[in-house]
Amino acid sequence: MSNFFSKDHNNIPKYALKMTKQKGIRMRVTARGELVVHANPFCTKEMIDKYVERHLDEVYFKAKVPTVRLFGRSFQVKKIKGTTSHVTTCEDELIIQAKDEASMEKVFQQFLRANAKDVLCDISEMIFYRFQEYSITMPKVLIRKMTSSWGICHPETNSITLNAELIHYPVEFIEYVVCHEFIHLLQPNHSPVFYDILKKVMPDYKRRIDLIETNNEKQYLM
Ligand SMILES: [Zn+2]
Repeated sequence: MSNFFSKDHNNIPKYALKMTKQKGIRMRVTARGELVVHANPFCTKEMIDKYVERHLDEVYFKAKVPTVRLFGRSFQVKKIKGTTSHVTTCEDELIIQAKDEASMEKVFQQFLRANAKDVLCDISEMIFYRFQEYSITMPKVLIRKMTSSWGICHPETNSITLNAELIHYPVEFIEYVVCHEFIHLLQPNHSPVFYDILKKVMPDYKRRIDLIETNNEKQYLM
């Protein structure tokens, strides 16, 4: 089980808050990679958190801070040269340690693959419980990188294939994708029956779909 689950509902990284008389909220990244938010006293913590979450990638990108998104959270990537090879996460940082750049990339890719397997399989097992009253048996979960879909269902072999890239997206969205593919074990197309089952097993599915923003990402939903 991945340690990312515990932080699923807290996507906001730590930031230093500075009060200002100016209108609105602004945010910057210091040379040391720390986030500083400037807001006036009328801004609530909720407003500021929402702003930080929405603009985080953009601010990091401008500051040229290497980041990676895991389960919807942004992590700053720190590379450390060392004799042992491993990847760890600590608060908002993802630390890669290895002897050189090539080994760092290798150990990072291994970390992504291992997490994709663990987390996507765990999520699938948990989602399966929602299907207890339906006549399906737990399908085999396959994971690979795909370029044009988030998931594929193979009823003939009782298996689903999930896109390994899902590990960059929020857990609630991944749960929706798994649910969608499970329903295809019962219904091959997006008929009204498909949506009847979806509404029953995941009443908040529309909100989960809205967790991904671009149309490009949405068109992979099949
Ligand atoms: Zn579908």
